[in-house]
Amino acid sequence: SAVVSLDRVGVVYDNGVVALESVSLQLKRGEFAIVLGSSGAGKSTLLRTLNHLRLPTHGKVTVEGVGELTKPSALRLHRKRTGMIFQQHQLIERYSALKNVLMGRLAYHSFWKSLLPLPKLDQLIALDCLKRVGLIDKALTPVKSLSGGQQQRVGIARALAQKPRLMLADEPIASLDPTSAHQVLALLRDICKSEGIAALLSLHQLEFAKQYGDRIIGLANGRVIFDGSPSALHHQH
Ligand code: ADP
Ligand code: ADP
Repeated sequence: SAVVSLDRVGVVYDNGVVALESVSLQLKRGEFAIVLGSSGAGKSTLLRTLNHLRLPTHGKVTVEGVGELTKPSALRLHRKRTGMIFQQHQLIERYSALKNVLMGRLAYHSFWKSLLPLPKLDQLIALDCLKRVGLIDKALTPVKSLSGGQQQRVGIARALAQKPRLMLADEPIASLDPTSAHQVLALLRDICKSEGIAALLSLHQLEFAKQYGDRIIGLANGRVIFDGSPSALHHQH
């Protein structure tokens, strides 16, 4: 079944801009989907709606094991289970890689538990996440001393530490050189596949999308204009 489903979702901003219009889609376990579209197409809005940082104006968002996202408790649970990766990584630069990944553990715990000092187990889990992104030797290095690609890998480790069911990445390679971009996409795909995490990434580049996505969602003016495999995209154009 789907980790998350959107049913005829529409988003209209306060200024009247229609950012999404009647978008219906489902993301399944282990699916690695990429949303493509030009600037202003509605990609960020789609990701924020999936995480419910933006409430839909129309339609509904349903999450596996949580139900329709209406109650605050359902929302909290969904956000805890959703890993977010950003273009500008949003790490705390003066903190070590490990400390940043521990933030992901804070997000994993309930609010009350997050007020207590993290137990040793959290440290071990955080270190394991850093190991999985190939940065165990940088655990104690401040994030500001890492390269752009390494910083983004810390971002992946932090999201992973949350034990997410859904991974959302908004332009995760937009600030990276091509080599780091390939590394980050391959790593993200392998981790999501092996953990059965449903993933949705937004990208600008068709070439990267075709190489890494199992599914491509084309967005234009807030509407889905294509949804299928990269090979189907090839036949259409
Ligand atoms: P993107 O890189 O996704 O195109 P933008 O540069 O369009 O992002 O937007 C950056 C931020 O400004 C986002 O948080 C977005 O919600 C907000 N924003 C974008 N367009 C508007 C607008 N017309 N009015 C108010 N806020 C906007
Ligand atoms: P993308 O990520 O594809 O660039 P966005 O989702 O950021 O697209 O934006 C879709 C449309 O909604 C754009 O026209 C943008 O200007 C507008 N928009 C985005 N955020 C806001 C906001 N907070 N307030 C008003 N308009 C916004």
